[in-house]
Parts: sequence; structure tokens; C-alpha cells
Amino acid sequence: MMSLQKYADSCINCRKCIDVCPIVIATENENFSPQSKLRLLSRIEANESISEEDIDNVYLSTRCGACDAVCPINIPITSIIQRERQLLSEQGLEPQRTGQIVQNILERNVPGHMDDSNRFDWVSDDLELSEKSDVAYMGGCWASFAHPEIARDTIRLLNAAGVKPMLLAEEKCCGLFLIDNGHLDDAALHAEKYVTYIESLGVTKLIVSCPGCYEVLGKQYPLLFRKSSFEVILSSFLFKEMIDKGILVPKKGEGKVALRDACPLREDWEIFRDIIFSLGFDTDELFETNMCCGAPAGVKPNYPEVSKKVAMLTIEKAKKKNVKLISYCPFCLYHLEGTCKECGETLDMQDITSLIAERVL
Ligand code: SF4
Ligand code: SF4
Repeated sequence: MMSLQKYADSCINCRKCIDVCPIVIATENENFSPQSKLRLLSRIEANESISEEDIDNVYLSTRCGACDAVCPINIPITSIIQRERQLLSEQGLEPQRTGQIVQNILERNVPGHMDDSNRFDWVSDDLELSEKSDVAYMGGCWASFAHPEIARDTIRLLNAAGVKPMLLAEEKCCGLFLIDNGHLDDAALHAEKYVTYIESLGVTKLIVSCPGCYEVLGKQYPLLFRKSSFEVILSSFLFKEMIDKGILVPKKGEGKVALRDACPLREDWEIFRDIIFSLGFDTDELFETNMCCGAPAGVKPNYPEVSKKVAMLTIEKAKKKNVKLISYCPFCLYHLEGTCKECGETLDMQDITSLIAERVL
């Protein structure tokens, strides 16, 4: 396999990654381009002294993958960024806020200021849950703490389809932040503990609401630890299947909505359009290709102003088109709503689960 350095050296300066990078678009500063990040690898590997701006450059990436997707010679740009962060962390140079969030996840099981003991506060009396089942539901941190309606609507839809999942009493943060920031040993240990715990409950299907959890538990844990004995299922995909089979029958809506696509599900964006069509709506496309929300991988806590600027790219587009925004990532929704509040903007936004619940229940 080619080394990351060889990949970094193979850049042909086509600039395609620069054109799609949300950080470059929002800051209008090519010093923070994907290509410029490649040039830092050899210097960081050699432990050369690097400037504050260089460190900012490494951490000014949401690891959205837009650059990877367009690079004509398949340079794994996000893997190079991850490696640079791993080295900077080992050299004691990662931003303080990143280190704090890593510790939060490892010691308190939450990425932000949440209190893990409130993780299941979203559970309401009308929800039918099992004490023991081979089907389990993991709300994930952002649905559980910031958008509890997503977790509740998920269970209501599952109940309507005759499914009564159990919750994971020891649900954990998936650890995406660890992976994004190159804390791979910590992430591997986290994966081992979590997979072993879920397997010990006899779970064969784990339903998740968040694309980040889906990506991490379904695709990253097998790389970091091993393939688990349970299947990881994104709730939206399950609801699509239930609608297609006539298990859930939506009342048809009309008009257009815009989708806020989630970066980790780049391969599956069409599925969400199919869900919208099956609810009777049409989609209005905001961008030719996706635009990241601007929050992930530490950009929001470390560079809040840049993070807001990236979010505003979506908010302004949706406002201009006067269209309701449908998200299928609880973290995107949390960040866009927070940005609207901070910037005095208003925008009609909803998670796709709540839209499905509105049409079905
Ligand atoms: S992953 Fe996204 S934010 Fe990071 S450099 Fe690539 S395009 Fe820019
Ligand atoms: S898209 Fe790939 S080859 Fe083109 S400038 Fe970016 S990293 Fe280099």
C-alpha cells in the first residue's frame, strides 16, 4: 500500500479539492485548503517546529470528505489530516479544547457539557420499550441530549411498526471525535468495550438515529477492533424499508423541501430523496454537491466563528429559496439551529424522523 506521504506528494495541483472545501469557501482563505494540509505532513512527521497558523490549518477541517470525493488521483486527504492530528497530539500540540473533549468522552462518556446521567431523559411514558430484546436502540449524544424529539419519534414509529426495542443501559458516545482527531488507540479501546458490552446483551440489531454513530459503529469499529455480531441499522433506512413494504403508511404531503445532507452518508444521499418522495414531497437542491454544516471534528469548539460561517452557507441558501430544511443528522440540526439563534436568523428546520412521524402517526 502506498504511504500517506507518497499520496501527499502525488498531488497534481488540479485545485478541485479547493473548490469544494467548506472551510475555504466560508473563510475565502486558501491558506486553509485541503491541498495546503497535505504539504504539512512531512514537516509534522519530522517533528519540525510549525507555526500556530499551521496547527490551525490541520484542525480547520470538519473531515467532511468533500475533498476526498473529488480528488482525481484518490489522495486520502482526510486520512492525512487524521494522521497529522495524531502526530500533533503525540507532540503535545493539539488545541486545548480538543484535548478536553477527548477526556470528556473517555471519562464522562459525553462529547460536550452534557451530563451522562440525563442520557435517557428523553424517554416519555407513551413509548413502548422492552426490558430485553435482540433489537436495541441507541439515540446517540445529539439526539438524546439536544434533540430528544428525534429519539421519541423514532420509538413511536418503531412501535407503530410493531417493534419494541430495548435501550442500552450503558449507552456510550460513539467516539467519532476520537477518530476525527487521531486518538486511534483510545478509539480502539472504546470500540472494544462498547462492542463487547452490546454483544453481552444478546443484541443482533442495533438501530441508531445518527449518521455519525452509523458510520462509527458500522464501519469504523470493525477497522479499529473487529466486526461485531450485531447489525448496525440507520433508523431512516429502516423507515424507508417499512414504507416501501406498506408497514408504515404515510399521508401524502405536497410542496418542496430541501435536504441537509450528512457528510458520512455521501454514498447514500439518493435514499433520503426517495424517502422525501415517498412522503409526497419534492426536493429543492441547495448545492450542486453537499455543503458540510461546519461543526464536526472540532471545528465548532475550536473555531466557532468559522463554524458559524460554514453553517450560514446552508442557512442563507435555504432562506433565499424560502424552503423548509430537512436534516437527517441530529448534530447538523443542533448546529444549524444554534447558529440561527446566535445570528438572529429564523429558518424552518426539522429532522426527517419527525417529518415521517408527522405523516405516519
Ligand atoms: S475534509 Fe472537508 S473541510 Fe476538511 S479539508 Fe477536506 S473538504 Fe475541507
Ligand atoms: S484534488 Fe487531489 S490532486 Fe487535485 S489539488 Fe486537491 S489533493 Fe491535489
